[in-house]
Amino acid sequence: MSNAIFNIPLPPNDPISSYKPGSIEKESLKARIVELKSQQIEIPVIIGGKNIKTGKTGKCVIPHDHKKVIGVYHKAGEKEVNLAIKAALEARESWAAMPWNERTAIFLRAADLLTTPYWRNTINAATILGQSKNAFQAEIDAACELVDFFRFNVYYAQQIYKEQPLHSPNGIWNRMEYRPLEGFVFAVSPFNFTSIAGNLPTAPALMGNVALMKPASSAVYSGYWLMKLFKAAGVPDGVINFIPGSGSQVGNPVMKSPYLAGIHFTGSTPVFQNMWKTVGDNIAKYKSYPRIVGETGGKDFVVVHKSADPQIVATALIRGAFEYQGQKCSAASRAYIPKSKWDRTKRLLIKELKTVKMGDPEDFTNFMNAVIDQAAFDTITGYIKFAKRSKDAQIIFGGNFDDSKGYFIEPTVILAKKPKFKTMEEEIFGPVLTIYVYEDKKYEETLHLCDQTSEYALTGAIFADDRDAVQLANKILVNAAGNFYINDKPTGAVVGQQPFGGARASGTNDKAGSYLNLIRWVSPRTIKENFIPPADYRYPFMEEK
Ligand code: NAD
Repeated sequence: MSNAIFNIPLPPNDPISSYKPGSIEKESLKARIVELKSQQIEIPVIIGGKNIKTGKTGKCVIPHDHKKVIGVYHKAGEKEVNLAIKAALEARESWAAMPWNERTAIFLRAADLLTTPYWRNTINAATILGQSKNAFQAEIDAACELVDFFRFNVYYAQQIYKEQPLHSPNGIWNRMEYRPLEGFVFAVSPFNFTSIAGNLPTAPALMGNVALMKPASSAVYSGYWLMKLFKAAGVPDGVINFIPGSGSQVGNPVMKSPYLAGIHFTGSTPVFQNMWKTVGDNIAKYKSYPRIVGETGGKDFVVVHKSADPQIVATALIRGAFEYQGQKCSAASRAYIPKSKWDRTKRLLIKELKTVKMGDPEDFTNFMNAVIDQAAFDTITGYIKFAKRSKDAQIIFGGNFDDSKGYFIEPTVILAKKPKFKTMEEEIFGPVLTIYVYEDKKYEETLHLCDQTSEYALTGAIFADDRDAVQLANKILVNAAGNFYINDKPTGAVVGQQPFGGARASGTNDKAGSYLNLIRWVSPRTIKENFIPPADYRYPFMEEK
């Protein structure tokens, strides 16, 4: 912290490029997509800045054209994990000792680089090809949100470092030192957001920590480009080590290390719970208690009151449930609609859904693209088949799928006859929305039902023009969502505006993109310095008159 300068202004959010027809942005992004698609890159494990080829490889394929391979990646195993831990710990001393302003400059530079055409196009194109996101979805994730994470985290880190003890009486100087954790942080990311893969290792690194970065196997491709961005920005070798590979083959040896100081995880609830169990089994081995931060699954709701406008509700449901094929932890996946508004809402919903185009994201007219891989395709279509067979549900839109070229699943709307039908309760993580129609007079009862239907509590929305209805929902659903929306879809949280995270089975709610997250990556040391220390042990009360 020596010579720390605290003059970082509150950043604006990174502006979203529209990629309108004829724009330079659109032309240059399309050109980069073509370029990346025409190549097949080899992706190494990266430890201490060195590229390691293990020979055990996996393929990076394009989900909407799954025979097309754009990368072959080397998988890390126990040996590489141990090398990565060693490299991280070696880098730790100088990184932790680096003045805060110097570390900050690296991440502010990463943000600025990502706003230049080369990096923006590259990271967006990698996300479009590797994760089947359309240009807008890639832009708001891989470019804007990641730029925002870098810049806002710096701003929040500054706030944390500035927070000092309230008082130092005469002769005393009290201060707080925000030390990085004593060990390394294991950053484990999901496939669905490139920005999350970028944030998980860099948020702890900004606070002086070293990290092991484990990308999801279906998003190694964009993860590798992120590593190149970190390098270009000046992240020193060994500070972030890249160890793709199978979850358990990488995860178990990492979590056995006595130097595991933190886990920064985003992904599914069962994986997180297993990791927590492994940490519990190893608890006596660790040098310190690992900080465990996990943002996990969701079963995000939309509750509609009879005072809401069906056109607004239908729009929110389409965007909230089907953008990025419903593969957002925040995606609307269950909705409660009052009987008096159902016919009109259904008509509008179906009319609009008929206009939704699905296909290759390289064709910018498509709103929806492919789901990530065969496993996701099988799970999601399993739920659709279940609904087709059930007498308690009816598919009112979509329900078809085809994995012959890409993993395509139509936007599907299920009408549930029972409020606790399987697809009202479980996370599907695909383009499937289940609707339950309730009697208007049972609004309050429906709010309680919504609160008690699923184990998750990530996002949710209430649509109502009646303020009393809003207030009641706000109250009854207080613990049902970590991000609660009034008259808005439950997706699309913006860094600096709606810090993101949920409770219950949805995670530890440490709010990515806020000081609440960064504070988990420091271990404060309180320092009291006495300028005039006492030289006599006796207190005045002991005097004999
Ligand atoms: P996933 O749980 O299958 O995988 C997440 C990561 O964990 C991957 O990198 C995977 O390789 C790794 N992993 C698996 N087993 C492991 C083990 N034993 N040890 C260590 N690592 C292991 O999740 P996914 O399919 O990539 O992503 C979708 C899930 O992520 C959904 O449940 C979604 O709701 C959730 N998600 C949550 C948020 C949020 O902020 N709450 C954001 C995005 C995604």
